[in-house]
Amino acid sequence: MKHDDFQTKLVHAGPDREPRTGASSIPIYQVSTYHQNDPEHLGRYDYGRSDNPTREALEQAIAELEGGVRGFAFASGMAATSSVLMIFQAGDHLVVGEDIYGGTYRILTAVFKRWGLETTFVDSTDLEQVRAAITPKTKAIFVETPSNPTLKITDLPAVAEIAQERGLLAITDNTFMSPLLQRPLELGFDIVVHSATKFIGGHSDLIAGLAVVKDAKIGQRIRHVQNAFGAILGPQDSWLTLRGLKTLGVRLIRQQESAGAIASWLQTRPEVKKVYYPALENHPGCKVHLRQAAGGGAVVSFELASKEIAVKMMKAVKLPLVAVSLGGVESILSYPATMSHAAMPAPERAARGITDGLVRLSVGLEAAQDLIADLGQALDSPEC
Ligand SMILES: *Cc1c(COP(=O)(O)O)cnc(C)c1O
Repeated sequence: MKHDDFQTKLVHAGPDREPRTGASSIPIYQVSTYHQNDPEHLGRYDYGRSDNPTREALEQAIAELEGGVRGFAFASGMAATSSVLMIFQAGDHLVVGEDIYGGTYRILTAVFKRWGLETTFVDSTDLEQVRAAITPKTKAIFVETPSNPTLKITDLPAVAEIAQERGLLAITDNTFMSPLLQRPLELGFDIVVHSATKFIGGHSDLIAGLAVVKDAKIGQRIRHVQNAFGAILGPQDSWLTLRGLKTLGVRLIRQQESAGAIASWLQTRPEVKKVYYPALENHPGCKVHLRQAAGGGAVVSFELASKEIAVKMMKAVKLPLVAVSLGGVESILSYPATMSHAAMPAPERAARGITDGLVRLSVGLEAAQDLIADLGQALDSPEC
């Protein structure tokens, strides 16, 4: 699908107007309960944890956009991932990409493990490792591509094929690409999760999570968890997420263009040892990535020659926030060594390329030339 077609879909996905009044925006149904005309036969809506029309509009929209049969909205990306993982049970085993989001690693190793869900972490860019880790107890493969922060690429159709051959569910976190650039269900995956906090929300003013399934039966299992566990997205935040979806196309296409320009410029700077951006020809996963995604996205990581230069630059930039998170309209510069990967021991970080010189830039909607000029002056600034 061309970007143009998908932009149309983004604007009109789900119920794109409110049927009773024709309102152009689905109202925020700020409500916990619903009057029942017949106490013996409850109506479509009975309680806000179970159903809310604003949340439902968002759930329909994301299901359409990801090409699934059912969508779910949760209180955060981690609530989405955790609720999906709750469809498994003690004794089940998962094969998980070692470069998944830190919070996913934490919930698997520090929470679900205590409840008997076992995980083997593998380098999911190496399909042999994925295959070798499967045991008779394995129920699913969970990967994330591009990964964070070094943007390693996992071959989604190949992983989906392995899962299908072995009767496993294939699950992926599609936060970095969004359905605009990558639609894993169309590539054979069964479940997609999102931190809608990032590109889908898009304005750094919201925490939200989404999940979409390809199969109605799996949808029922997640629905059961959503209603029972109750980590639902509230109506206000559902509305903000719906609003974010409508502009995702124009935002991310522009951010991606700027990211490409910045990645190329970074390669010309003597202080920059390495640039990680999956649409660069010298990125090892470039070919695989561009087969399964419509561009490199808007996150660029780069390694500066030393920790001192990295710290100096982060102190001297004026436009980007220096912060955790990504996907906002403002550029965000993150420092994995003390932020997302602080909990990882230094040698393990180094083995994954997450050195003290590595920074990650989520490219916002500022003009690319202004961002380049700002990063340039920050790199040129005297050491503090
Ligand atoms: C931020 C993020 C999450 C977690 O989402 P929250 O909304 O912060 O709970 C999960 N996966 C990825 C790839 C993320 O970037």
